[in-house]
Formats: sequence, C-alpha cells, structure tokens
Amino acid sequence: MLVKKIIFFIFISLLVFSKSIHAQAPKLLKTIIVDAGHGGEDNGAVGEYEGSLRSKEKDVTLAISKKLVAALQRELPEVTTIPTRTTDIFQNVNEKARIANQYHGDLFICIHADSGPLKTGRRLIGRHMVTRYKVTYTGKGKKKKKIKTPYEVEENLYQYYKLPLQRSGTSVWIFASHKTSDKLKAIIDNEADFNIEADDSLSNNIDFNSPEMKPIVAIYAKRFQLKSINIGMLVEDEVAKTGRKSLGLNQRQVGIRVLQSTNMPAILIETGFINNEEDERYINSEEGQEELAVSITQAVKRYKNIVENGNNANVQAGK
Ligand SMILES: [Zn+2]
Repeated sequence: MLVKKIIFFIFISLLVFSKSIHAQAPKLLKTIIVDAGHGGEDNGAVGEYEGSLRSKEKDVTLAISKKLVAALQRELPEVTTIPTRTTDIFQNVNEKARIANQYHGDLFICIHADSGPLKTGRRLIGRHMVTRYKVTYTGKGKKKKKIKTPYEVEENLYQYYKLPLQRSGTSVWIFASHKTSDKLKAIIDNEADFNIEADDSLSNNIDFNSPEMKPIVAIYAKRFQLKSINIGMLVEDEVAKTGRKSLGLNQRQVGIRVLQSTNMPAILIETGFINNEEDERYINSEEGQEELAVSITQAVKRYKNIVENGNNANVQAGK
C-alpha cells in the first residue's frame, strides 16, 4: 500500500512543482480549438420572424468559425488553430470535447447565435364567409334528436405572423467553476498549507472523481475559470469597439456542458440574436462575420500576450 501512497504524493508534488514553474515561465498559447455550434440534424436556432432570412444557427456558426480560424491562422501563424468541424455535420458535446482534449487545446472558443421566444402578431386581411351550425333538438326522452342547421356568416379574416425579437447584441459566456472549498482556497492562497491525508484505500489508478482528487480537479477548474474570464472580457471589449451592442460577460451555472467537459480555458460567444432583424442580417453578412472574426482574433492576441508575458497593461491599453 505504501507504493500507492508514494505514487499519490509524487502526483501532488508534480502539481505543486508545476505551479511554481508556471510562475516563472507561463504556459504558451500553442493550440486554439474553434467550435462551430450545432450542425447536421441539429439546426440550432432558426430565423422565424416575418421577413426573416430563415437562416439556421448551424450555418451561421460554421461561416463565422471558418473566418475566425482563417483570421487566427493569419494573425497568429505560430499558433495551431483547429476547428471542431468544417462541414455541416452533427457532433455531440462529448465529441467536441474529445477533439479539444485530443489536440491539447490551450483555449476553446465556441461560436453560437442567440434566440428567444417570439410574440405572435395578427393583422386583418379582409372578410370571409364561414359556415356555423345552429343546434336544435326534436322529440323527447329516448327519441330526442340533435339537429344541426348550417348557416353562413361573414367574419374578419386574420393573418398570424411572428414578430421579430427586440433583444439584440453579442454576449460572452463562461462556465461555472466548482464551489471553492476551504481546502482549495488554502491551496490557492498558500500551497504550503496543503496536506492530503492519503490512506490505504487509494487505488493505483488515480480516480479523478475520488474525494481525494476533487480539490485538485477544482484547482484546475478555478485556474481555467480565471483565464476564461480574462479572454471573455477581452472579447467583450473588442466587440464593443466595433460599435456593436455588447451584452457583457456572463456566467451560466448549467447549459454549457461542452465548456465544462474541456480541460482548458473556454468561452462561448453568442454572436447575435438570429431572430432579431438587424442581428440576423449582421451575422449572415460577409462583413459582419469578418468583423466578429477579427474582433475575437484581436482579443486572442491580447490574451496570448497576457498569459505568455504577464502583460496586464495590455488590457487597459487596448491593442
Ligand atoms: Zn447555439
């Protein structure tokens, strides 16, 4: 059982050691994964209001992702940028996460388009004759009979339609990290205070779901979250610079499972509302897609500079 204990302590030591290494030489941003949301049988949200382009989220996300991949490769040729998909195929979130982890991504960027419930409007388009029935009865008891007599009546004729969404703008989302435990807080604040009581029940294979491993996993989650907030704020800032309505950086507790299952900093960008008239045209236009791709790329360049050089002045300075 001692061997197992040693293995476990070696692992902890490596973890602590790697943190102090990181303090001197920050990790390089070498690989970026760009994920075009939805695809194949999964259309995502669809433009449904009256006069809409009837565009599908899966097509918009793919078009923007392709431009983003091209812009990242152009601006950051030393970085490997990998798309999760380049065609109209369906991938479940586990598949997306698997690709991201397989290529050891240092940053995961999901491209999506937002939507919301649409109100139904109606307009009077004329009058029309409809058949109604007058119901009478004859006879009594068991011989009672129902008689339906048709008659024509003129009524208003309405046309129903979906109203476009009022909400518009771009928003950036990060995943919720695990609740910071006291033990985890101690590790982050002062790792010397950290002491794990390893016991003989530890198995040879490190189980990342075990109670002993939970704080370790949580440290990574926390570190990734700080980086995610960092890149998220930069994307938000770059988008706002273009004059587009920016809805800020948000955190969702649930619903971004793909972000929670990648072992790297990750953000999800809702590029615009597909059911808002102006937004749908913007995210479907060559100019809009290119502008978004360039904004996100600018943000990634600033983020790379910060994580690699610890240059925080860049956040305020702009470029
Ligand atoms: Zn989506």
